[in-house]
Amino acid sequence: MLFKKVAEVFERLEETSGRLDMTDLLADLFKKTSKDEIKSLIYLIQGTLSAPYISLEMGMGEKFIMESIASSTGHSKKEVELLYKKKGDLGLVAEELLKKKKQTSLSKRELTLDYVYYSLVRIAKTGGRGSQDLKIKYLADIFNSAEPLEARFIARIVNGSLRFGVGDPTILDALSVSKAGDKSLREELERAFNICSDLGHVAEVFFTNPKKIKKFRVEPFKPLQPALAERLPTPEAIIKKIGKCGVEHKFDGFRLQCHKLGEQVELYSRRLEVMTHMFPDLVEEIKKLKPKEIIFEGEALAFDRKKKRYFSFQKTMHRRRKHGIKKASEELPLNLFVFDILQVDGEDLTEKPLKERRKLLEKYFPSGILKLSEMFIVEKTKKLENIFNEALKENLEGIMAKDLNAPYTAGKRKFAWIKLKKSYGKSVDTVDGVIVGYFLGRGSRARFEFGGLLLAVYNDEKSKFETVAKIGSGFTEDEMVSLEKILSKIKTEKPPADLDYKIKPDFWVKPEYVVEVAFDEITKSPTHTCGLKGEKGYALRFPRMVELREDKSPKQVTTTSEVAEMFWMQKKK
Ligand code: ATP
Repeated sequence: MLFKKVAEVFERLEETSGRLDMTDLLADLFKKTSKDEIKSLIYLIQGTLSAPYISLEMGMGEKFIMESIASSTGHSKKEVELLYKKKGDLGLVAEELLKKKKQTSLSKRELTLDYVYYSLVRIAKTGGRGSQDLKIKYLADIFNSAEPLEARFIARIVNGSLRFGVGDPTILDALSVSKAGDKSLREELERAFNICSDLGHVAEVFFTNPKKIKKFRVEPFKPLQPALAERLPTPEAIIKKIGKCGVEHKFDGFRLQCHKLGEQVELYSRRLEVMTHMFPDLVEEIKKLKPKEIIFEGEALAFDRKKKRYFSFQKTMHRRRKHGIKKASEELPLNLFVFDILQVDGEDLTEKPLKERRKLLEKYFPSGILKLSEMFIVEKTKKLENIFNEALKENLEGIMAKDLNAPYTAGKRKFAWIKLKKSYGKSVDTVDGVIVGYFLGRGSRARFEFGGLLLAVYNDEKSKFETVAKIGSGFTEDEMVSLEKILSKIKTEKPPADLDYKIKPDFWVKPEYVVEVAFDEITKSPTHTCGLKGEKGYALRFPRMVELREDKSPKQVTTTSEVAEMFWMQKKK
């Protein structure tokens, strides 16, 4: 397929906001796509080159993209920079300057989808000494053959700013519509995606051998989308909802999905990044497990020998980075509290009820530093309340109540797991949001060039970020310095394309960093766009930063519907 066709659909997607219209546009495009091209197309729509657990980053900052634009259009770097200041979007800069280009290059040829995709992969794979110059050259080569509209989207993909509000759910709908004419295949496609987390791969299998989608099974080294927990405000509400349940402590550690096949072990974070190198001690222990093939999940925590208690997630990770992995492994012994098992020796366990999975867990764990997360079987509210209070006394975050009959709900926030956490003011939980902008410091904070953050949550029905708080407190001086340092590197001239906002910060930034925020309660405010109805959206009252959540990707932040749910729970409490 010619890339021109893709770029034309991308342009129309940009002008469309309704999910149904987007689905139709994509479904039409998929109908014209061959089984050999569908995988690359899906990745490009997602603005990536591969599944999240395969590290294939473009590795080109804005400056280098501008150099490629300059070299392929015959404009000076200064001219490109000035236009970027004006337009605030490298895609529009590349498009405009290509339109103005006087000479067409001799080697110009029509770009195909495959050529664009594999050229971008080549850029991503170019590393080592002198790689920046090569990357600039390779990108300029693509621009040399590109039409202006094609260049708009290529520049944005390389810059990580391709955002037209098409989320994975819309792509799944469109795949189904492209073959069945309706959404009837959506559920099986979604399940396949949730257990391998690679939409490109799912689409390729769907195009090559659609019957295989139903038979999709969990496999080592294809991490599943993590199961997520719902919230309820009280122990009574939990028992009312799921009755007799398994209750575990909620550890504030680092969630790891562990895969073993023979001697090979990989560990994945909550955002499905490979973390194996950070935990050599766990890897050694996992290698010793009896089954040849096993996939399980747990929460990793470092133990403080002196104080005889576990460090929080933040401290566990910080220590490892600061003091080196080997030293930290010796000084801060690590434990993994294993809480679920998803596959053993080729058998997919995700459809089995928790009580059966639990039996298998108990068969293989504990094993050395791999501990078993203790489970209490609870039927009565009072007992649940006691366990919760005990957990808080032990400085834990709270508890997880689990439905013993539920399957593993990969990628879904369902009542299979319910969390009950310590409250902050009237609020029953903290919110994780993505930083979309920041404010300059005033008064005593002027010297930090940092005075606060603009925070957004994710509306997964609209595939848009929506602002929910301006955070001015909770920062130490060191944090202000380091936040300014990381955020100033990702400043953008314009707000993120997939953000709905009313309030403007001093600087916009790429939505990259996730922070956890405590607050007193959720209110309605005319300033924010979260769940906007009429003039008012939801807002956090007295928001204060707790910590950076490096284990979460921007789209894994709290959703607008969760904020609405917390607002409702506040009233119930
Ligand atoms: P939070 O922000 O409350 O930590 P989250 O947004 O990371 O939660 P949730 O789905 O709300 O994710 O809560 C589930 C998380 O709780 C899991 O991601 C896991 O890291 C953590 N957790 C701690 N203890 C357990 C446990 N015993 N069983 C399952 N998950 C646990």
